[in-house]
Amino acid sequence: MSQARQLTILGSTGSIGQSTLAVTELNPDWTLYALTAHTRVDELAAQCLKYRPQYAVISTAELADQLTRQLQAADCETQVMWGEAALAEVAAADVVDGVMAAIVGAAGLEPTLAAVTAGKRLFLANKEALVMSGQLFMELAQQSGSQLIPVDSEHNAIFQCLPFDASNRLLLNDVRKIVLTASGGPFLNTPRDQLSRVTPAEACNHPNWDMGAKISVDSATMMNKGLELIEACYLFGTTVENVDILIHPQSIVHSMVHFKDGSVLAQMANPDMCVPIASALSWPERLLSGVAPLDLAASPALEFHAPDLERFPCLRLGMEAARASGTMPVVINAANEVAVAAFLEQTLAFDQIPLIIEEVMSKIPCEAASSLAIIQGIDQQARMLANELITKKFR
Ligand code: NAD
Ligand code: MG
Repeated sequence: MSQARQLTILGSTGSIGQSTLAVTELNPDWTLYALTAHTRVDELAAQCLKYRPQYAVISTAELADQLTRQLQAADCETQVMWGEAALAEVAAADVVDGVMAAIVGAAGLEPTLAAVTAGKRLFLANKEALVMSGQLFMELAQQSGSQLIPVDSEHNAIFQCLPFDASNRLLLNDVRKIVLTASGGPFLNTPRDQLSRVTPAEACNHPNWDMGAKISVDSATMMNKGLELIEACYLFGTTVENVDILIHPQSIVHSMVHFKDGSVLAQMANPDMCVPIASALSWPERLLSGVAPLDLAASPALEFHAPDLERFPCLRLGMEAARASGTMPVVINAANEVAVAAFLEQTLAFDQIPLIIEEVMSKIPCEAASSLAIIQGIDQQARMLANELITKKFR
């Protein structure tokens, strides 16, 4: 690649954000335009000193003052901005070539859509943004010419297996089905009667991946795979019937595509997000990721089996939301975010997470998710209802 391109990382202090910075360190193809964080001011300050982006964005004016003082004291010229409008601004700025969408949850929706609307190359980790606004998101990308490159390991794997036309559009005609692999998380074999007592620390202790708290809990409930099913349907323009889910506890095969001639292409790598991040940042070329080569002879045997929907009711609910489409993915995402936050705060038991989500889904009718205002309205409604149910029932 020739000239360095400018990158904004939304959520640079998170797990994906830090891995993205590690990949950019190995590769001079990208320079950093903006880094953003919610409240971790010391981490953001340290990143600014190390990577010298033009801008840093944090959530409040108070934290911005603190950050400015820290940077000035260290002679760092990074300019500090704050708040939601600033996130959208650094995602859509004219000089920006690419945006890593790595904020967790619905908080990432507006800046991610700002990047898409501005026609940026979008590296999508923040699956909740696409789950919430799928149809609108894809239409905006089509209108602006924004190239969407999935970072979620499964979707990145599928993206790597699919062919493209001369204009870099995916060619899906010969695809028979997509298979999303799933590790099954830390409770794949835990006796079901013990699930009421598992702690946040146990739920966040994923056997193969080191991730933020929310996605770790989502992996433990398998809601993560439900959200990824919805994500796959929107990204690859397909329906639930054409997407299978396979438990693969070793997390070596990151997903597969079946073609109509019977061929199956899979992408394999050690389970480290630097691989899909490097592949996304360089696509259609290849960058260094810093990840050790895969040694299959030294790996455990690769296993695959169908998921147990009774053990993982969140996966069943994810499938239902994917089938219903419209605003149901908004509802399931919002209820899940509230329930997971309550579990992490230890005000809700692990096995009560699906109960809250199912009740919220049953009470909010599905409609067309045709505008951002509708999506945000339903998101608020589902959050209120989930909070109410948690307070009334389980406290
Ligand atoms: P994380 O919790 O480690 O980091 C989240 C980032 O978002 C942080 O930088 C935080 O400051 C920022 N943030 C949080 N709330 C915010 C708010 N209200 N406003 C502005 N910024 C806010 O999360 P993560 O594990 O890096 O995951 C990020 C996204 O990537 C999630 O959507 C997740 O599902 C997806 N993803 C993560 C992994 C992984 O391995 N970690 C894999 C696939 C997909
Ligand atoms: Mg994933």
